[in-house]
Amino acid sequence: MKYIDEFQDPALARRLLDDIHATVTRPWALMEVCGGQTHTIIRHGIDQLLPEQVELIHGPGCPVCVTPLEVIDKALEIASRPDVIFCSFGDMLRVPGTGRDLFQVRSEGGDVRVVYSPLDALKIAQQNPQRQVVFFGIGFETTAPPNAMTVYQAKKLGIANFSLLVSHVRVPPAIEAIMQSPSCRVQGFLAAGHVCSVMGMGEYPELAARHRVPIVVTGFEPLDILEGVRRAVHQLERGEHTVDNAYARAVRPEGNPAALAMLEDVFEVTDRAWRGIGVIPDSGWRLSPRYREFDAEHRFSVTGIKTLEPAECRSGEVLQGLLKPNECEAFGTLCTPRNPLGATMVSSEGACAAYYLYRRLELEPARTAPAAQSAPAQTDPAAQTAPTAPLEASPVA
Ligand code: SF4
Repeated sequence: MKYIDEFQDPALARRLLDDIHATVTRPWALMEVCGGQTHTIIRHGIDQLLPEQVELIHGPGCPVCVTPLEVIDKALEIASRPDVIFCSFGDMLRVPGTGRDLFQVRSEGGDVRVVYSPLDALKIAQQNPQRQVVFFGIGFETTAPPNAMTVYQAKKLGIANFSLLVSHVRVPPAIEAIMQSPSCRVQGFLAAGHVCSVMGMGEYPELAARHRVPIVVTGFEPLDILEGVRRAVHQLERGEHTVDNAYARAVRPEGNPAALAMLEDVFEVTDRAWRGIGVIPDSGWRLSPRYREFDAEHRFSVTGIKTLEPAECRSGEVLQGLLKPNECEAFGTLCTPRNPLGATMVSSEGACAAYYLYRRLELEPARTAPAAQSAPAQTDPAAQTAPTAPLEASPVA
């Protein structure tokens, strides 16, 4: 299949791996900030094919996983109301809130529907003018534009019974927060190609220069990942720290102007809490005052809900790259995709789910410790059979 098979070619993968092996002289730690990339890495065993000195750390790149518990609880509260039709992508239905999930709300009589586009929810609102229709708008810069467009359409068409429960997050402030953490070991980033296809690359040069880290915009197929790693390793070995586009078939430096204009019109930047991490300044979007009437949090007065993360789940450490999923005591025992304790085990993009799905059940031998983040800026496993198919497909990204 075009754009799939050609980016999974074993001979080309071998050449890229040979180049990386021939280049590396010291330990390096790279972080991918996309759950889709994490799944490609684990599914194809890419991390196990790399030289021992190159460690891939899985960052907070799964949109479902970083959605805070209190937002899930707000969704549960709204979805439980008899006058509400609550619409969401499939992944969110199994994310546990405090004590239950959206599936349970549905089994108790709540009208919870899986949709494949926010525009489907808008259509449902048009067809049910006597009901309130809410769409659960979560995700990164990739899902924000269609959600923004849906609210724009609702206003334009005067569909007053539609609203959005918003929990959108932005990648660059998360990179900033990761780099500021005293425990940070990351020395280079594989930036998410689809995010950059919307936003462009303009926010990254300043981050790369200030933190002295290479940032390579990277795609999602195995060869994309290997090429991203290869370019990052070459920069690190040369002591460079620039922004490089290894996904030029989809990413233009200026991004998608139409999507950016829609985001600018409908949303405004705000502080946002990330699950297990806490509040990161300017890391999210909310509806701008012009569209505040479509904000479900205000319409249903759920702004006061505050919750605590379950103590036994260490997804916050997983999301910051401080812990590998199979290092969590609950992994594969108390916590499985069928009985998830945390969102990183529920989501089809979660790191815990990836480790479970592709049988990374055992702890791996410790890799050579990478240089500290503040160091000078030199600073054949086959894909395995999944034990279950526990996850619902979701267009969330
Ligand atoms: S394995 Fe389960 S309990 Fe442990 S961090 Fe992952 S989601 Fe949380």
